[in-house]
Formats: sequence, structure tokens, C-alpha cells
Amino acid sequence: MRFVFVIIFSILILALLVCAITAWRSKKSIGVHVSLMLYGLIPPVTGNMIIIASSSETISKLGYYVYFLGMDFMMLMVINFTFRYCGIHGQAAKIRVLVHALMSLDFIQYLLNPFFHHAFDTQPIMVDGRVYHDLISHWGQTYHRVMDYGIFFAMLFIFAYKGIKSPRIYAERYYVILTSMILGGIAETIFIFTDQTVDIAMIVFAVYGFLVFYFSLYYRPMRLLDRMLANIASEMPEALFFFDANNTCIWANEPAIRLANLREGMFEKAAPQLKRIFGSLQQKPGDWKENYVSGEGEKARYFELEQHMIRNKKESVDGYFLSVRDRTEEQNALQKERFLATHDRLTGLYNREYLYEKIRERLKKEPDRNYVVAYIDIKDFKLVNDIFGNEFGDFALKQLANRLRVECSRGTIYGRLVSDTFGICMPEERLDTERFAQIMSRFVVKNDDRSFDLITHMGIYKITDATLDPSVMFDRARMAMSSIKDDYRSFVAIYDDEMRKKVLWERHISTQLDQAIQEKQLVPYLQPIVNASGKIVGAEALVRWIHPEDGFLSPGAFIPVFEKNGMIAQVDQHMWRETCQILARWKEEGRDLFLSVNISPQDFYFMNVESVLCEMVRKYGVETGKLRLEITETVMMTDEEKRIRILDQLREDGFIVEMDDFGSGYSSMNLLKDIHIDVLKIDMAFLKKSENDQKAKTILHSIIHMSDALGITALTEGVESEDQYLTLTGMGCSLFQGYYFSKPVPVEEFEAMVDQA
Ligand code: C2E
Ligand code: CA
Ligand code: CA
Repeated sequence: MRFVFVIIFSILILALLVCAITAWRSKKSIGVHVSLMLYGLIPPVTGNMIIIASSSETISKLGYYVYFLGMDFMMLMVINFTFRYCGIHGQAAKIRVLVHALMSLDFIQYLLNPFFHHAFDTQPIMVDGRVYHDLISHWGQTYHRVMDYGIFFAMLFIFAYKGIKSPRIYAERYYVILTSMILGGIAETIFIFTDQTVDIAMIVFAVYGFLVFYFSLYYRPMRLLDRMLANIASEMPEALFFFDANNTCIWANEPAIRLANLREGMFEKAAPQLKRIFGSLQQKPGDWKENYVSGEGEKARYFELEQHMIRNKKESVDGYFLSVRDRTEEQNALQKERFLATHDRLTGLYNREYLYEKIRERLKKEPDRNYVVAYIDIKDFKLVNDIFGNEFGDFALKQLANRLRVECSRGTIYGRLVSDTFGICMPEERLDTERFAQIMSRFVVKNDDRSFDLITHMGIYKITDATLDPSVMFDRARMAMSSIKDDYRSFVAIYDDEMRKKVLWERHISTQLDQAIQEKQLVPYLQPIVNASGKIVGAEALVRWIHPEDGFLSPGAFIPVFEKNGMIAQVDQHMWRETCQILARWKEEGRDLFLSVNISPQDFYFMNVESVLCEMVRKYGVETGKLRLEITETVMMTDEEKRIRILDQLREDGFIVEMDDFGSGYSSMNLLKDIHIDVLKIDMAFLKKSENDQKAKTILHSIIHMSDALGITALTEGVESEDQYLTLTGMGCSLFQGYYFSKPVPVEEFEAMVDQA
């Protein structure tokens, strides 16, 4: 029997040694403490083994010393470990100092035992037919036991306390050790108070050591982990489904239960339900991530699916999980945002930027196909707003947008450019201008209480250069449209080479104007104005551009361009200055002639006409009466009251104001009653077509008569024949201008003409 225990103890010692070494090498910080504690268990077990094995008194005694001193060492190590394992720090940990002191005392008293025999003695007894040295304890031994029990109970208390205080899942790591300690304590107690020869408590101690080893270094609270993972999984916004290797759902979180419409616990229904929603996608094996859209239009739902296989160490599949994220809301918000950024709010059509982008895209995609862009403009849309209000204006725009939606076939890109203009891009073969003219050019906008006939004009640019930016393409289309803007009969115009040339020309001369003025390439030509007796009394200054490369340019080549872009103001100021200089020179030379200059309607936008003119005549010392100012009816078309005031002011300053091109407009007569002018320049041109017509003569006669009655001087321009001159004189006209007398000529030539007469 003793032999069996020797073997058991040897095995335990060996096992403890292995564990102690392993623990020492552990990367965990508690490893050292566990290791020391395991080492601490070895001496008492060894001591006991010696006692059992030996028959000699000396060796047995040695065994007892190893046993008791080892016990002290072990207790020390157990304390250290316990504090560590239970996480006791700070003040409480100071108690260790006291324990260490008491233990040291015990250690010392055992070292003194050979001399005083106060702790223990041995007595030989027979066991298994062999001598065994049994222990006889004295008070020193009692001190040792009290000490050990004290510490032991303190440790028990600490583990029990931690066990109670910790969450249930954690408690087990304390209770397991607590239990093994209690068992060890009981076994030891039995050994002490009964006549046992072998301390079987040593075996329990060793088991305790192994438990500590495991729980400190290897144990992971799986149930805790489970709980945590399950909690996290339930809280996830994604729907999570866990499947085993047989494709059976074993768990699903709350969102997943809702998504697959599972009743609690009916997880196995998940697979068929998912198949119903996601079709075959659900059965796709392996790791993947995919987007899925179910339904269409407003009912569309957007999902993001992700599947991951769970493999074990042998690389075979244990199961897998599927996460499904419902991104519908996100997607809708995104789409709404994108829609707002790319569409016009009022009409819902593409906005300009997006239209351009779409066109660029298309042209790039189909480089071999011919496309056209069309620019649509509503005629007098401002009028619609002014008369019917903005609300009706908006309504009209929406109606037009709807018309576009209906008429534009698939593959046609269209959108709203800005305010009342729309843009279209389509393959050239689909362009049917006649049809367009029919359906788009005129349509009735009608709401509950009013209706209005909208007229639209369309300009078309056939894309010959696809590298141009759509803005330039629409510019060209717009240009084509402008060419028919005021035409009531044509609705569609196509940008062509002539227009292109025109644009280039416009750019060409516009960039050169400043320099031309500086270098006096712009010169006044004078066309004589004669009185009824044929005497030259003055002249009209008409601009000519002596261009260094393009040669002689008459106003028709550049005046309309500058009237359009506003640069006419520079031309006019230059002409006024030149004219003033001539008048100043004439004054010195004693020539009593007047000069008339043209004032463009645009001038009023770009300068204070009145102060500029006053400043000029003052500067050159010219009499205001010698500078006549020609304005046209169009000047009065905007800001009429303000313009009337300006004209009155100019007349007060002494300028003579002439109404130019009278008769070419349509409100001429009406205008005369509101404004004050000195001279009426009647354009013969409008009568030319019906020269022999008696009616024309009657009209001319009445105009001259009327101006006479109003105290306004009549001047006829465009007089080309003696016959005309005589007739007009007969009618009472007092001033004349026209080729019959002279064309506009350079100043010197004009002066020579005057001198000859
Ligand atoms: P306008 O002011 O009506 O000038 C008269 C135009 O009729 C001149 O053309 C003149 O050469 C032409 N003309 C004169 N007598 C006859 C005639 O018997 N028969 C015909 N068929 N034509 C005649 P021009 O010089 O080419 O000027 C054209 C227009 O250019 C002018 O019309 C005027 O509106 C504008 N213009 C000319 N110079 C200036 C200027 O310095 N400033 C501004 N703002 N406009 C100018
Ligand atoms: Ca004129
Ligand atoms: Ca004229």
C-alpha cells in the first residue's frame, strides 16, 4: 500500500512540475504566480512521499521538515496567487505583509525544533509490516496548524466572497477553486484528527493545483462569450441568420425574425422564407457580398447581403451566417438627393448641368452617330409672367415640360436650360422640324380660368464637332433661334455655316474695337443736309471703319454687332467726340454748319447720355445748338418716362433733338404726342416700294403737314431723285438728305463741297 502511494505521489510531483514549467512560460501575467504556487505544492507532496517511503527515523524527520516548511512556502505562494487571481490590490493587499511575518515566524520555529523539540517528535509504528515514523505534535505544531488554517479560511473567504459578488457566469471560476480547497481542507482535517498514516489531502492539493493551472491559464468563460456574442448579434441593425452545415437556420436575431417573418423559435423556416425574398441568391454557397433590389419603382427595396462560411480547423464547414442590411431608406434618401441635384425643381426635367452631363455621356458612348441639339425658347415669356402672374407662368413652364415628355421619344435627352428655355439632344435622323413646328411652336396653356397661346422658337445645331462642350452647342442652337426670334412665321432655324461665320466675325471685331478707337480707325463720314433752296446747312456724321486688314467697313457690318453686345456706347462716344472736334474747328474757321450724331438705345444703359454730351460740348467749346442728336423710336421703348425726362433735359441744354427713321416703326404717331422733339426725320425707305402710289404721297404729305402743325421741322432722308426733291419741297418739307445730293463723304471732301457752292 505504501508503495502505491509512493508511485501516486511521484506521478503527482512530476505532473506538478510539468504544469509549473508550462505556467512559467505562459504569456499571461498570472502565469508566474501560478507556476510558483505549483512549485509550492511540490515540497509538501515530496515530504509526504519521503515519510511514507522511509523506515529510518532521520529520513522520516527530514520528510516531516520538508512537509511542514514546504507547507509554509506553499501557503505563501497560494496567498500570492489568490490575491492575483481574485484581483485584490491596494489597501487589502497590505495584509500580506502580516501573513508573511507570521509565516516567517513559523519557519524559524521549525528550524529550532531539532534543538527544542517544541514542534514535533516522531515515534516508530508498524505499517504494512514495515516501520513508519508517526508524528507526535507539540505546541509549535499547533501554532503551525492554527496559522495554516487561519490562512486557509481567509483564502476560502476570499474565493467565496468573489464567487458571490461576481456575475453568475464569472462565479464558476471562483467556485471551482473554492470547492477543491474545501475538499483539500476536509481531507487534511481527516488526516490530522484520525489515525491516518498517509496524508491523502496531498492528492486533493495537487488536484487543486491542476484546477488552478487550468482555470488561470486556459479557461475561457464560453457561456459568457456566448451570451455576449448573442447580445451583440441581437442588437445589430442587420438581420443575421446563422445556419448549420445542413443549411438549417439555427438562430436569427430580432431584425432577421422580422425580415423573414419568423415566429419566435421557428428558425428552420428561415431558409424557405429567404428564398422567397431573395430567390436563388440565398442558396449561393461560399463567402460573398451582394446587393439585391426587390420590387420596382416606389416599392423597390434595397438590400445588402453578405454571407460568410464558418470553417473549423480542418477547413471543413461548420456552418455559415448571412447578414442582410436593408438599405432602402438610405437609398431613397440618396436618390432623392441625387434627383434634387440633377433635376429642375419646377418642371422635374433634368437641370442644365445634368442635361449637359447626359449629353456628354451619350456623345461619348455613340461617337459614330449624328446628333443634334435643339434650343427652345418661349416667345415673350416675360409678358406671360407680367400679365398673368408668376404662378401662371410656372404653370405654363410645367405644361411645356409635359409636352416635351410626351413628344420626346426614348433616346432623346431633354431638360430645362434656364428660365423659359429648354434643351433637347437627339439623333439627327429623328429630327423632324416640320412636325416640331406643328406640335411645339404653338400650344394653348390652359388652367381653370384662363388660357394663353404660347409660341416657342427652336434653334438647332447639328453636332459636327462632338468635342465641343454642350454649352457651346446650345449657344449655337440659341443663335439659330435668335435669327427667327422676331419672326412670326418661322419657328425652327438651323445653325449653319453662315451663322458660324457671323459668330466668328462678331468675335473678331469685338476684340479689336478698343484698339480701333485708339488708332482712329473709326472715322466720321459726313452726309450733307440741304434746305429747300438746295443749300447745305449741315450734315449727319456716319461712322466708317477703315480696317487695316478688312478694308472699308460700313456700319451695317459692325453696328448691329455692337448694339447687341453693348459696345456701341464706345463707338458713339468716339463719334460724338470726333464730331465735336470738327465743330470746334469749323467755329474757328467761321463755318456756320450743324452736325447731327446718332444715339443708340443701348447708350442709355451704359452711360449718362446727358452729362457725357454736356461735358463734351463744354470741353470743345461747341454750341449745343450746332450738335443735333438723332434718336430712334426704340429709345423710347423702355423706361419711357425717364427717357422723356432726359430728352427734355437735353433740349433745355440747347441740343436739337431729332426723331430718326420716322415711319419705319409702328407706334410713331402715338409717340409724338408724348415726347418733345425738334426735327422729324422721315425715312423715305418705307415709301419707296410704292413710289408711284398716290397713297404713299398722301401719307407723306400728311406727316409733313402734321409736323408743321406741331411746330416740328420735317426732314426727309433717302432722297434719291430730283423728282422726289421737288415733290417734297412742294409738300412743305424744309430739310433734305440723300444720295441725290451726296453720299456720306470724308470730312475734307464735305468741306470742299461746301466751299464750292
Ligand atoms: P441712319 O442713321 O438712318 O443713316 C442713314 C443711312 O442711310 C446711312 O447709311 C446712309 O448712307 C444711308 N443713306 C443716305 N442717303 C441714302 C439714299 O438716298 N438712299 C439710300 N438707300 N440710303 C441712303 P449708313 O451710313 O450705312 O448707316 C447705316 C445706319 O448705321 C444708320 O442709319 C445708323 O442707324 C447707323 N449708324 C451709322 N453711324 C452710326 C453711329 O455713329 N452711331 C450709331 N449709333 N449708329 C450709326
Ligand atoms: Ca441717323
Ligand atoms: Ca435714318
